[in-house]
Amino acid sequence: MPESPETLDPAEWDAHRAIAHRIVDDAVDYIRDIRSRPVWQDMPTDVRARFRDGVPHDGQPLDEVYRQIATDLLPYPMGNIHPRFWMWYMGASNFTGALGDFLAAIIGSNLGGGDHAAAEIDKQVVGWMKEMVGYPAQASGSLVSGGSMANLIGLSVARNTMSAVDLRELGVSALPAPMRFYGSDQIHSCHRIAVEAMGLGNQALRRVPTDRACLMDICALRDIIAEDRKAGLHPACVIATAGTVNTGAIDDLEAIADLCAAEGLWMHVDGCIGALLAIAPKGCALVRGIARADSIALDPHKWLHAPFEVGCALVRDAEAHLGTFSVTPEYLENAPRGIASGDWLHDFGLQTSRGFRALKVWMALKEHGLTKFGRLVDQDLAHARYLSERVEATPELTLCFPTVINIVCFRYDPGGLSEAALKRLNTEIMVQMQEAGIAAVSDTTVQGRHCMRAAINNHRTIRSDLDLLVEEVLRRGRTLVPEAVAD
Ligand SMILES: *Cc1c(COP(=O)(O)O)cnc(C)c1O
Repeated sequence: MPESPETLDPAEWDAHRAIAHRIVDDAVDYIRDIRSRPVWQDMPTDVRARFRDGVPHDGQPLDEVYRQIATDLLPYPMGNIHPRFWMWYMGASNFTGALGDFLAAIIGSNLGGGDHAAAEIDKQVVGWMKEMVGYPAQASGSLVSGGSMANLIGLSVARNTMSAVDLRELGVSALPAPMRFYGSDQIHSCHRIAVEAMGLGNQALRRVPTDRACLMDICALRDIIAEDRKAGLHPACVIATAGTVNTGAIDDLEAIADLCAAEGLWMHVDGCIGALLAIAPKGCALVRGIARADSIALDPHKWLHAPFEVGCALVRDAEAHLGTFSVTPEYLENAPRGIASGDWLHDFGLQTSRGFRALKVWMALKEHGLTKFGRLVDQDLAHARYLSERVEATPELTLCFPTVINIVCFRYDPGGLSEAALKRLNTEIMVQMQEAGIAAVSDTTVQGRHCMRAAINNHRTIRSDLDLLVEEVLRRGRTLVPEAVAD
């Protein structure tokens, strides 16, 4: 035992202040100069090796700790804040949001609930999300880690509300008939995890075929529901996707809402990609009808570019939401006055302790305003159209799917190559561009054709970045063709 009591606070505040200032200065440069660095680069073995060191038993000065951050961490990011990162479907983060995360940690409040300013901001941001998608003020919602968790929240409320039994008390074994959820064959993998975690099993999620446009086939959906009813199963919920991962396809939300109303089913929208089209002057027409859903999952860390993590689950019927998760043990009873007199925000989801993830969203929205975020969504749509036009105007490139939103599926195809050779060729082009740190795209298979996929969800992208992508694909493709033919 040391003689005097210990604390984690710095012994010398001014020394720490100086380091903190240096970290902030470096961070500003880091973001300002992002374009001049590679999108991604491989870690040298010595850097990798240092991440295998065991737990440090003795401390070291903070500036030494930071030195390792500067040499081993900062040069090797995933790359998604770079203007030429279009892989998978992510956001590009933003500096104000990063300050928000820092300040949230400085305040250190627990957003499990209670009466304090951070809790008010949490509720305010949820209210803003409701406004963005056109939900009524009395709807309910919760900020969660991301879209996967937001979907799990929505689907759990659907399961509990649609079940004819006290599911919380009795569990799924008490269900009189197995429940069925419906999503298209393009549905995100997190829904499988959700139905598994909810105890319903993967078979409870029926994959409905899609049409040529990758939209859920509504006639097929109607038939499958009828078939399930006849078989004694319990159709409970349709999961419409507003923006599929593969191609950005947006299911017919109005038609699905009509069908759910007619059949008495819960309508959930996975809007992780597309729900925020609702804030865009041009894009909003694409998600007409979204507010008719009983629940919506959306992802501020995608099209609002909040630093990871923040997702949002919205539920139209606040009582159903609370009824699914609320548990109030005596140590969390609501007090009439004081710190414990606020709402228990943990009652709207699975977490007890919750971070102050609202602040990064709140600060960026206050600084830029929703109108600008809406324009940025439209800007991504315009970028995707531009890239698609360049692809279509280039004989060696093929647009593999008509671009709907900000996802462009294309490939290098000089003609005369087999499907297998094209896959090898395009995969090699994609990986080479990543390894060179030039641009990051991913790949997928759409309707049997392997292709590269650029998801342009990036407020830093400018047109010349897309021109460079086209040039690089062509240059590398032309060099690689002889090999591809030889294989
Ligand atoms: C990203 C995404 C998810 C999962 O969201 P996370 O934030 O990664 O958990 C779910 N559905 C769709 C359509 C997505 O694009």
